[in-house]
Amino acid sequence: MTTYTSRNEVPINEKWNLEDIYPDLSKWESDLKLVENMAEKLKQFDGAINDGKSLFQYLKQREELSYTFNHVYAYSMLKVDEDTREASSQSLLDRAKGLSVKVSASTSFFMPYLLGLDKETLSSYIAEEEGLKYFEEDLYESFRYKTHVLTKDQEEVLSQLGEALAAPSTTFGMINNADIKFGDVTTDNGEKVQLTRGMYSKLIENEDREKRREAYKAYYKPYVELKNSIASTLSAAIKSNVTMARIRKYPSALEKALFGDMVPKEVYENLIKATKENIAPLHRYTEIRKEKLQVDELRQYDMSVPLVQGVKQVIPYEEAYETMIKALAPLGDEYVSILKEFKDARYIDVRETPGKRSGAYNLGIYGVHPFILLNHQDDLDSLFTLAHECGHGVHSKLSSQHQPQITARYSIFVAEVASTVNEILLINYLLNTEKNLEVRKHLLNHFIDQFKGTFFTQVMFAEFEKITHELAENGTPLNVEVFNQTYEQLFREYNGEAFVFDEEVKFGWSRIPHFYRPFYVYKYATGYASAIQLATKILDGDSETLQSYLNFLRSGSSDYPLELLKKTGVDLTTPVPIQNAMKKFSELVEEFAVL
Ligand SMILES: [Zn+2]
Repeated sequence: MTTYTSRNEVPINEKWNLEDIYPDLSKWESDLKLVENMAEKLKQFDGAINDGKSLFQYLKQREELSYTFNHVYAYSMLKVDEDTREASSQSLLDRAKGLSVKVSASTSFFMPYLLGLDKETLSSYIAEEEGLKYFEEDLYESFRYKTHVLTKDQEEVLSQLGEALAAPSTTFGMINNADIKFGDVTTDNGEKVQLTRGMYSKLIENEDREKRREAYKAYYKPYVELKNSIASTLSAAIKSNVTMARIRKYPSALEKALFGDMVPKEVYENLIKATKENIAPLHRYTEIRKEKLQVDELRQYDMSVPLVQGVKQVIPYEEAYETMIKALAPLGDEYVSILKEFKDARYIDVRETPGKRSGAYNLGIYGVHPFILLNHQDDLDSLFTLAHECGHGVHSKLSSQHQPQITARYSIFVAEVASTVNEILLINYLLNTEKNLEVRKHLLNHFIDQFKGTFFTQVMFAEFEKITHELAENGTPLNVEVFNQTYEQLFREYNGEAFVFDEEVKFGWSRIPHFYRPFYVYKYATGYASAIQLATKILDGDSETLQSYLNFLRSGSSDYPLELLKKTGVDLTTPVPIQNAMKKFSELVEEFAVL
């Protein structure tokens, strides 16, 4: 693999082209000024919206502002991500952030104003001004929150408490990112060094069991030591969710969290119930793990090591791209031609270079096109990441093409469907074309582990959140013991009895940042199950599903997530998609056992 010591060395066709947003900085500067002026103008609408016409003028100008503002902001963000050490890019981003504060300040009057209207007045405005048709759904969508908004004074008090209410999450972030000190591990030369997260993710997959064990212990050490502090941040976060739900008149914290996506709580409950009813294959997989690793006692630190060793595939970027295109061919010619466009027109920033932001993402910019950041390593994981991010990218591209600005952006609930469908089509293609038995085993193992991580683990987390919030709602105090017991019990139910429990297992709850964003991880699981159903049907040659899936990719947020999915045949209000996913998992495990 080629490694690059500077961005200049990377071939131009492997770098994204930010000139598609702004050909030069002077255009960025003038847009920044333009947005500032627009924000000033919007401020003047405060107290001056009193009929359909003025309401329309405001909304129209706000949409124009947000179009240009997004370009200004996105450009500076992408520029920083190319090289986070570059001060000139950092200063663009700082200025864009400053602009964002001005924009929020000049538009913050609007929501309280809108929610203060009664429904008749709003309807009469919409009836008298033709142009408001375009904004109608969006206005009623905001209006849906009216019953959960308090009086002006009460809202004022709550907003003053905002920072204080965020403290549990901020404090956990500080503990988890800044203050935490992991234990020591032994390097290959016998030196003791302090473990880092980066080292942990590698060491926990190490073939040498002692290395895994040592890394596992070093990783959990600070979490166990800080158990009381972390239990108190988590407990405070949960109590504040529960209290806020009560104050805002939601039946429960869960229902408050599901309100935005209009997801009934039955969907959440179905997910957990249907998963647990079909958990046997996951227990079976744990047993297989124990057999393959030939250990007397299966421990948590044996769960991440690949069961098939010694398979190191080198897949250069060009080859990876070709493979992806072949694998996604079942999605049709239009899809494939968009993928080619991504590469040929330089939407993708491929290579890892010093200072570049780590990881991978897709950012769709309305009025331009999607941009994809990668840190491609010429290996199998990178191939999957490529297919995953291109899934988001094509979703952005198609939604921007087919939706007006107001509904072009899709929600997180549906986003992971588009990326996961691609991953499943890819693994299917690789399994069908790969002749080497060891590589096939490796691929299956990869799929199973990914399924476990994206689906089962997230459902387990989702259930942990549900139980702990219900305890708080019933007035049960939350502390280390309660969290430990709940987590250990769930871990046992999901993973089966083949395990021997280290002391650390039950502290799993203390290291999960997602628990500070309530009832969010279930979306990974519902997205994954939806994708399994869709990909399976598409591979079966079901052309109706294919067409409806492509329409789904063109839909942005033109409807609520569950409705968008229903149109593709995935009905998450029933247990069927979850049951189908469980069936698929069971097949994978059996296939792996036979190999
Ligand atoms: Zn994703």
